[in-house]
Parts: sequence; structure tokens; C-alpha cells
Amino acid sequence: MAKTSNYMNMTNNRLESINAKIKSCIHRYSTMPEFFCSLMKCIDVLEGERDQRAAEMVLKVPMQPPPNDIAQYYEVLTPYAYNLVKIQYQLSKEYTVEHQQAGDYYVVCKDKKKLQCDVAKCHCEFFSCMKLPSRHIFAVKKYSKSNVFDESVINERWQKEKYKSSQRLFLRNSVVYESDHGQAVSIQNIPAPKQKKTLTEQQKYKMAMRDAHLLAETMSHASTKKFHVQLNLVKEINRAWRNGRTISVMFSGKYLL
Ligand SMILES: [Zn+2]
Repeated sequence: MAKTSNYMNMTNNRLESINAKIKSCIHRYSTMPEFFCSLMKCIDVLEGERDQRAAEMVLKVPMQPPPNDIAQYYEVLTPYAYNLVKIQYQLSKEYTVEHQQAGDYYVVCKDKKKLQCDVAKCHCEFFSCMKLPSRHIFAVKKYSKSNVFDESVINERWQKEKYKSSQRLFLRNSVVYESDHGQAVSIQNIPAPKQKKTLTEQQKYKMAMRDAHLLAETMSHASTKKFHVQLNLVKEINRAWRNGRTISVMFSGKYLL
């Protein structure tokens, strides 16, 4: 098999999709820290989407079991590749096959169109691009009574095991727990980027008011003598802060100094 293939995708839609998602998260006039935080969030979301697809591949089970003839393909292939193979297998029933004794090859026919084919090699676009068994190969296999399943005509790209080996959900460094139902649940711990927040004057006022209320409540429960001491202390603190001085608090005996 050739090492390169376009998998019948002649567009850059996937790249454009990622670009659109990044642009929706990152604003044009972002500062460098904002840009980096937004980019990390975007990467996190994209990885989450990939994890979801990987989990669905394992957890989702079709309502109807796969046909017996191609059941082995279902076991080995990803759901996307299996659906393509299933369609090819159904289409193979529309073809007739002739065996050319002279060259020991097969000719597959449909609507007067002929194509040279073999049990493990075909010259059609689907086989060349997708590296999966085509309808012609299935027709020849049926005619020659060969085994329908043949791993040599499957590119490893489409195999479940290969897919799992590149997904972080199935990597060993992820934490795997077993749920009550016996299904493995993988949990990834990705620390969120820390964001430095600058408070507005209004936010600072609201936060300070909350503690000022608590302070007033505590002072109101004190005796009159203690209250006046505490009130003078609060006034002293306020005066010092207005003059730009720094105050440190020390606890001594009964009173806050
Ligand atoms: Zn073919």
C-alpha cells in the first residue's frame, strides 16, 4: 500500500473549523496574557471534544448488531470506517465477476463498465484513497469464496487500537476509575490558567463594606467603655491610611492594638 493517501478529502475544512473556533475565543486586540489564557481555553475545549468522540466510540453500541459477514470489520475498525465498509459491502451485491484464467485476475462488471480487481487489490478510487476494502474486492471475495475479512486491506489509520493509542483518554497517565456499572471512567485533571483580576473602585467598596458591617456588628456588642476604645482605634487606623501610612496588627491581652 502507498504510504500517502487523501482519504477522499480534498478540502481544508478541518483546519478552517479550528481556525474559526480560535477566532471566536480570542479577540483581535487582546494583550499577550489575555491571548495566552484564551488560547489555552480554546485548546482545552478542542481536546474535550476529541475526548467525547473517543468515549462515544467505546461506549456507543448500535441498536442492530452488525451483519455476520462483516462483523469482524466492526470489531477492528472505527465507527466511521466501519460505516464506509458496510456501504461498500452492500454495493458489492450489484456486481458480477469474471475470472480471467489467462492472467489469473478477476474482472468486475456493472452497467457494462469493467474493472480489473483482485482479492486484496483494486484500482478504484475508493481503495486507492481510503485504504479500505472496496465493493469490487468484496464482489471478488464472494465469487472466489475467500474469507470476507482481510486485515491486509485495512490501513492501520482506521483501526480502533491505533486510534486509542493516540487519544489522551486512553493513555496510561490518565486516572481511570471503575464505576458501579463496571465501566471505566477516565478523569483528566487539567489546571485552569490563573487569571490576574484587577478590581474596580466599586468592587473594592462593596468588599470593604461587607467587612465594615461585620466590624460594626462586633463593636455594637461590646460594653460602652470597650466600644469607645475600639471606635478610637478605628478612627486612628482610618487617619493613618489616609496619610499613606502602613499599619500592622498585633494581639496583646484583651484588646486589639
Ligand atoms: Zn475497488
